Amino acid sequence: MDYTGLTEEEIEAIAARDSLILSTEREIKAALFRIVRNLVLGAGILRKISKSELSAAQGLFATSIFSILSGNAAKASAAAMKPAVKPLINIVGGDAIIKKSFQARQIQVVEKTFQFERYGRKLSDRIWNSADMDAIKKILNDGVGKDAKLVAKQLETYIKDGAATLTKKYPEMMKRMGGRIPGNMAYESLRLARTELSTVYHDSVIEAARNNPAVIGVRWRLANTHPERDVCDDYAHHDEGLGIGVFPVDAVPDVPHPNCLCYQVAVTRRMIDREEILKVDAA
Ligand SMILES: [Zn+2]
Repeated sequence: MDYTGLTEEEIEAIAARDSLILSTEREIKAALFRIVRNLVLGAGILRKISKSELSAAQGLFATSIFSILSGNAAKASAAAMKPAVKPLINIVGGDAIIKKSFQARQIQVVEKTFQFERYGRKLSDRIWNSADMDAIKKILNDGVGKDAKLVAKQLETYIKDGAATLTKKYPEMMKRMGGRIPGNMAYESLRLARTELSTVYHDSVIEAARNNPAVIGVRWRLANTHPERDVCDDYAHHDEGLGIGVFPVDAVPDVPHPNCLCYQVAVTRRMIDREEILKVDAA
């Protein structure tokens, strides 16, 4: 990432967002494994898993996803607003009041962006009904009559490391199961979860900017992960006289595509001054 011109707080905020995105993926996988393992363990020898056991597990998974996403989205929103809070406290004082009003805004943004109840369920259903889940069911079926601990290990390998590692570790089982097994767990669905966190961050930066009188706009900064030119490049080079990539607070574009890791930074008057000074120096 190119962090030129950013304050320490802004760099921290972006790093926090990115690590929340990564941990969301890890936590979703871990929750799936925990729930599937509970189906398997208990008996020394695995017996057939019934449909009703599976659907109960699906319900549990939906609840887990809901809490993972709501927890991490709240953290992403707090991280996004943090750089805005400190300068405001410096200007107007009243530490507790300002912090409280920003906390209320974080809750609003998260609720609005995520529409939690619906989103959490939709995402969990997508993951649960993906091709990966068929693979998990195949592993469960293949394991009937075998040591439950072994089956739990196989499930863990598949969920955390993917099909290639599973084949390496358990070639016989893979041969028995035949057919194709998807390589990565619910890639599309996890991507959706990541995109939602980016959106919460984006909306939170804008919401904080809207409540900061020193802000003149929000700058769109390009993520390094853009292999090809797309609309994000246009946003990052947008110029309507506020500075390169800077939009008026109420005209910042939405996150334009899944997996967009571009980030947004509020531009305050002082930052613009500094840039203008640098420009003059360079001339
Ligand atoms: Zn982008």
